[in-house]
Amino acid sequence: MRFGIIADIHANLEGLQVVLEDIKKQGCTHVACLGDVVGYGANPKECLDIIRGMNIPVVKGNHDEYIGSTEDPEGFNDAAAEAVTWSRNQLTHDDRKWLRELKYKRFVANFTIVHSTLDVPERWGYVFEKLQAASSFTYQTTQVCFFGHTHVPLAFIKDTAVRGGSYYPVLRMEAGRKYFVNVGSVGQPRDGDPRAGYVVFDIAAQTIELRRLEYDVATAQRKIRDAGLPERLARRLAEGR
Ligand code: ZN
Repeated sequence: MRFGIIADIHANLEGLQVVLEDIKKQGCTHVACLGDVVGYGANPKECLDIIRGMNIPVVKGNHDEYIGSTEDPEGFNDAAAEAVTWSRNQLTHDDRKWLRELKYKRFVANFTIVHSTLDVPERWGYVFEKLQAASSFTYQTTQVCFFGHTHVPLAFIKDTAVRGGSYYPVLRMEAGRKYFVNVGSVGQPRDGDPRAGYVVFDIAAQTIELRRLEYDVATAQRKIRDAGLPERLARRLAEGR
């Protein structure tokens, strides 16, 4: 079984389309989504319709939570908060209910998916370092857990100790080790590489491969500007920041 694992789409339709085409080309028969389908980008409704229509396992991201709810977003900068309000108005009541009802973590096949961390997923902690990964590993009962939220594709490995996070073009899994792997971001990469990112997980071959793909950044940027969303949200797509 080959899974495409996608995260942090952030209403970027151009990024999502390119990734979904590649998932097919890569021979993936299944897809799982780690949340933040909406927020920041100009196509929340289109991206949500695609993801809902695919009927795949999806977990809730912080943007999904805030855009789904009616409360003021906490801990968001002005640009992000403005995007939350704008995005809410693009979605139907039913879309927002769907976002609200997403779970924080899920088991899929033989692995786990979560947006942030397994220890306290609703607190939206960011994992950039071993110590942060170690807390999540404590709650990880499967050999592999995929996560998102930072938009930076890093892998953490635990055997007698926790190692990482490192960039990983390809991980070959070994028995006796656990893996906590960030799959990067489809719609707003932040590792300095503007290409859309996602992972192909081959369960039989025990490999986790990071894919990076060029997409039409200029169109995604133009739509953000046309929607009157903050300029910074358009600019960062070209920078991968
Ligand atoms: Zn995100």
